[in-house]
Amino acid sequence: MASKGVVRTGEAYCLSCFQLVDRDAGRCPGCYSELVEEVKAFRCPKCEQIITLGEPQCPKCGLKFKVKTLKQTEPAHDDQFLMKLIEWGKSPEEAHVEEGRAMEKTVSQVETASAESPAGQLERLAQLKVSINELMQNRSEMLERMEKRMEAEKTRLERIASMTD
Ligand SMILES: [Zn+2]
Ligand SMILES: [Zn+2]
Repeated sequence: MASKGVVRTGEAYCLSCFQLVDRDAGRCPGCYSELVEEVKAFRCPKCEQIITLGEPQCPKCGLKFKVKTLKQTEPAHDDQFLMKLIEWGKSPEEAHVEEGRAMEKTVSQVETASAESPAGQLERLAQLKVSINELMQNRSEMLERMEKRMEAEKTRLERIASMTD
């Protein structure tokens, strides 16, 4: 088994004996290797050897190539993304986190429901509706509380302002 190396201009080469093959050849006509996959390849600028893309050195003349360092920078990027996610998860207030947990619970309830009888599922769904309603209620309660607090803060600030006048 061998791979077909396809160069930028579109020609395909058997990577076992390096002869030119048909782009859609299943077998190399020269060495009879089965050509199972297609990989990107390029021609060595010094000796014209066909080389798989990503090789750091020409196997024939030893010419060294620059290999793109994409693979090395990617994990760092992922880490940054993860950090952002963690920060985002941590951010506003505890209540938000609590709400998320409650949601998780209801989701897992739905998942377990699917293995039950239709009657059991209906019951679960009814329960789910209730818990979602409770969740929404908690949310509006929270908002109300926040509004009240803002009102209190405002009057306090107004009092301070009138005192300094
Ligand atoms: Zn071949
Ligand atoms: Zn070479």
